[in-house]
Amino acid sequence: MKALVLEEYNKLVYKDVPDPEPEKNEVLVKVMACGICGSDIHGLDGSTGRRIPPMIMGHEASGIITKTGSDVKDWKEGDRVTFDSTVYPLDDWFTLEGMYNLSDNREVLGVSPGTYKRDGAFAEYVIIPQHILYKIPENVSFEQAAMTEAVAVALHSINISGIKPGDKCVVVGAGMIGIFIIKLLKISGASKIIVIDISSKRLEQAKNSGAGYTFLSTDENLDEKIMAITNNRGADISFEAVGKSETVNLSIDILRKGGKAVLVGNISQKVDFPLQKVVTRELKVLGSCAIRGEYEIVLELLETGKISVDDQISVVVPLSEGALWFGRLYRREIDLNKVILKP
Ligand SMILES: [Zn+2]
Repeated sequence: MKALVLEEYNKLVYKDVPDPEPEKNEVLVKVMACGICGSDIHGLDGSTGRRIPPMIMGHEASGIITKTGSDVKDWKEGDRVTFDSTVYPLDDWFTLEGMYNLSDNREVLGVSPGTYKRDGAFAEYVIIPQHILYKIPENVSFEQAAMTEAVAVALHSINISGIKPGDKCVVVGAGMIGIFIIKLLKISGASKIIVIDISSKRLEQAKNSGAGYTFLSTDENLDEKIMAITNNRGADISFEAVGKSETVNLSIDILRKGGKAVLVGNISQKVDFPLQKVVTRELKVLGSCAIRGEYEIVLELLETGKISVDDQISVVVPLSEGALWFGRLYRREIDLNKVILKP
């Protein structure tokens, strides 16, 4: 088969590789669409240590089952599927406690951090364990289905936030995950959705996605403006979708006493933490990691038109042009939302 192989750091080559064979609990999926994730772009140069070459990246994908292992009973050739990006062990303590996203020895598709290597979906075919497969509804396209992962990451943060109808929420960072958080807040009953970003272009997208109020982070009277929108108390819940000291602190600063900050962004290993503010105002700070069962719900939201992803798909291009598009994204020559590669 053809695959986009990371042969060495900063060197992607579209080439022939051996066809993969499914084990008894796995299926072979003919890839129809696979999105380029920010973590793939960062992984390209070795800076994250999570894409050790040679390997095939790609974990936001969809396709058609073309072969099933001998123990696979509930899936058949021709099924249109997407899949979780986490391959989790079924007998792990955390999995059995309902927290498979936190299971020990979990692996991520298209990731190679040294302790394991799992080839991903920037290829004609990919091997997928049956327990992470999800059926794509008939009216959802392969490209839309490839966006499920990003929406599911956003939905997980909403789910753990415990949001109630009428809550006043702030989203810090209007990148793709931030945009999906905004869209999901709208259908979760948030009364006020306030969005803060450094880019007016992103804020425009936030407005179109359901934000009621948008502010540049450089706005001088930001605190006062947010207080005015929240009955002079501050926000009930904030969602941080960047992961830097400034933005984490901002997401804590604008909370009311007893409020909750849900941290999704994690590009920094450490940040400054406003300890006294958190303690004396009894704030709750929650980490949100990946996805825990949100796939099925996202696919239903797509099927019923409750959430749209088309506005976040910038281009769909052939997998053979993968190196070119990766290069453009890496060098930040283009400011795009999702680039989807099609084998
Ligand atoms: Zn991703």
